[in-house]
Amino acid sequence: KPERGSWMDRLRSGLRKTGSSITQVFTGTRIDDELYEELEAALLMADTGVAATQHLLDDLKRRVKESKATTPAAVKGLLLDAIAELLAPLEKSLTVGLHTPTVIMVAGVNGAGKTTSIGKLTRYLSDHGQRVLLAAADTFRAAAREQLAVWADRTQVQIVSQEGGDPASVTFDAVQAGRSRGCDVVIADTAGRLATQLHLMEELKKIHRVIGKAMNGAPHEVLLVVDGNTGQNALAQVKAFDEALGLTGMVVTKLDGTAKGGVLAAIALWSRQRGTPVPVYFIGVGESLEDLQTFNAREFARALLE
Ligand code: GDP
Repeated sequence: KPERGSWMDRLRSGLRKTGSSITQVFTGTRIDDELYEELEAALLMADTGVAATQHLLDDLKRRVKESKATTPAAVKGLLLDAIAELLAPLEKSLTVGLHTPTVIMVAGVNGAGKTTSIGKLTRYLSDHGQRVLLAAADTFRAAAREQLAVWADRTQVQIVSQEGGDPASVTFDAVQAGRSRGCDVVIADTAGRLATQLHLMEELKKIHRVIGKAMNGAPHEVLLVVDGNTGQNALAQVKAFDEALGLTGMVVTKLDGTAKGGVLAAIALWSRQRGTPVPVYFIGVGESLEDLQTFNAREFARALLE
């Protein structure tokens, strides 16, 4: 069986295409308008979006001027700094242990990697000595419930699930159970798609409210799982879910494979305008239970450009 390599290798290989089209820009000998134009095109191709691309270009030009860089290679180093600085506010670790239980509500559109990420997060928390209980609040899809049960089994944690039940009441029961059983963390999986977006958001808001009834001050975290390959669409999802629920964090998945990666810059710029950043607690770099990594801005920039 071949070595799977480190997560950094998988992240690097996922971002390879974007990375090579950006680094290609710096292979010439001159720092001129053409270089910036090529860089602009490469950033746009990587799903960075117009606003974040402009932000990075302006910041880079300022850095070039200040440092009096004379070679494209030096400019590339400054771009790495600019990207790392833009992404830095997204770095934050998930805190548990302040409440018993800490209640984490997880949302995301179908296919984003929500259930898989919950499995990975459960493993991560269990490894850190936390007693986790899962709530199968996506009662609309039998497959969702079954898949969550598989992850509960693999990670050896308890699950509250009810066939065809009301999502809000399943969540309520799970939080109550978590409290009475002295669990450290309750993670609620939620539906990722209903008849309409409005219907989905109303359902999620209801779950959010009911969690608050089951435990004052909960949910303590509202996480959105987004697929790192969906480009500007991912940013639109972040905005919509944040407006409905008030996000406290994100998991960006599928940054292995053939991710473009630029969406993180777009999210970072949006976060900056929002005032309080919505941190990326974790990134997904594969399909197995271990493939969850804490996000580090400089490592990410290095995986992209080095
Ligand atoms: P959900 O519908 O949001 O619950 O999505 P799932 O958790 O079922 O994931 C959808 C697909 O994406 C599955 O095939 C997962 O194995 C895959 N997936 C999830 N996270 C990652 C990741 O970080 N990397 C890769 N390569 N695949 C992932």
